[in-house]
Amino acid sequence: MAAERNIEQAGKMKQSLDSEGRGLQYEENLLWEKKRNDEPAVDLEPLRHIPLRTGQDERGNIGLPQVSEPQVVRHFVRLSTWNYSIDHGFFPLGSCTMKHNPRINEKLARLPGLAHIHPFQPEQTVQGALELMYNLQNYLAELTALPAVCLSPAAGAHGELAGMMTIRRAHEAKGNTQKKIVLIPDSAHGTNPATAVMCGYDVRTISTKETGRLTVAAFKEALTMTDPNGADIAGMMVTNPNTCGLFETEILDIADLLHEAGGYFYCDGANFNALVGKIRPGDFGVDVMHINLHKTFSTPHGGGGPGSGPICVTEELAPYQPVPVVVKIAGGYHLQTQDDQPESLGKMRGFHGQFGMHIRALSYMLSHGSDGLQEVAEGAVLNANYILSQLQDVYHVPYEGPCMHECMITDKLQKGESKEDDVTTLDIAKTLTEYGFHPMTVYFPLVLPGTMLIEPTETESKDSIDRFIGVMRHVADEVKAGNTDQFHEFPLSTPRRRLDEVKAARQPVLRWSEDMAQL
Ligand SMILES: *Cc1c(COP(=O)(O)O)cnc(C)c1O
Repeated sequence: MAAERNIEQAGKMKQSLDSEGRGLQYEENLLWEKKRNDEPAVDLEPLRHIPLRTGQDERGNIGLPQVSEPQVVRHFVRLSTWNYSIDHGFFPLGSCTMKHNPRINEKLARLPGLAHIHPFQPEQTVQGALELMYNLQNYLAELTALPAVCLSPAAGAHGELAGMMTIRRAHEAKGNTQKKIVLIPDSAHGTNPATAVMCGYDVRTISTKETGRLTVAAFKEALTMTDPNGADIAGMMVTNPNTCGLFETEILDIADLLHEAGGYFYCDGANFNALVGKIRPGDFGVDVMHINLHKTFSTPHGGGGPGSGPICVTEELAPYQPVPVVVKIAGGYHLQTQDDQPESLGKMRGFHGQFGMHIRALSYMLSHGSDGLQEVAEGAVLNANYILSQLQDVYHVPYEGPCMHECMITDKLQKGESKEDDVTTLDIAKTLTEYGFHPMTVYFPLVLPGTMLIEPTETESKDSIDRFIGVMRHVADEVKAGNTDQFHEFPLSTPRRRLDEVKAARQPVLRWSEDMAQL
């Protein structure tokens, strides 16, 4: 009996040892699973003779977890260590531009005179902040050759919506009711067709599978498919460089054809870090583009916000873009409202946009200078081409380089004859996590099967890029030698291994219940 009890106790002991963590890596349950109903964390003793005014009695027991302050702090700090970030290591997520956020930006955004102002303050008390926004508008106009800038959109996708609504507004003002179609290449980011549809347009896809680039021939075919003059085309949405990391070499002719048909050229500016300071999108025919301040200009991505996606538009489209825009007037700066700009499509969000991000982006521009911004593009393109040059003999490169700020490969050479020796893009991504790297973007763009999109950015050192290349070549060598089994197992040392991602997406469990704790 005693021996049995000892074993049982040892088992319990081991269980409790395992449940906290190993090697200073902590397992972390939900706060609800930690709660002790018999042990209130913060509770006031009932006061005698004085009625309670905290509402404690009336509220009754709603089952909030009872945990102490140190438990709460540890809970969130531990969870934060599960979150990989650019401050941890290499983050080569293609199309996302995960680059270092210089700390000088943070320092300036925390200056009390900027951090403590309120958007409801009267205009004359925030002239410095308005001047800052005005200067940022002007720098963006200068860099894009698109003279009118609205800073308010809160992310890239929000900028796309603002930009396409500007285009729609312009067509409405001109009475172009027949223009119902937007042309979008198949390599586009998913937000492009989603935006066009939200603006009430039909999307017509242009195939780029053959060369990875838009061709005049394919464009012409799409432009004239239902009307010989493209009279039903409202515009096109194109990323340049595109999401295969390639520069659209025929873009000038394509922009001319689109303009002849009365359409507007929307450029998804998420990949502007490849061009900044080198060429200006307004010079290759762009009418509207959004800029991801949280990509090109190094403001934090922030897990879905606060991003910032200003739009830059031509003189012709300026009256239709959203308000507010900062303008210079006699004696200072002024935020234009709809009254000043009656043709504007109106406000896209509360207040004036992510002001904290405007500070950081301007700080980035000023600390780099014009020569430094050119070096950003040069460094980003050089690093991506270095990776391409070191992987192209062992991975399938579908479209010939040189690439721009990111390079695309596929798993074609690693996919074997049978299921057993089949090493796929997913296996390669999971192997990278095992070796301490965040994976590249996988299965995007959708132009080909098994794509991998690698964007190192200019802020990565040669040392970390070489280690990444080392892992990628190791995978390719092992697969070639027939040692494929291991790649179906990785990752081994992460807190969670391979999740059933399809099930997680199709049957998400969004609510915790007591019975789940028993599982
Ligand atoms: C990142 C990105 C977007 C969307 O930007 P968000 O700020 O995430 O909304 C749109 N298009 C492309 C090509 C991108 O890379």
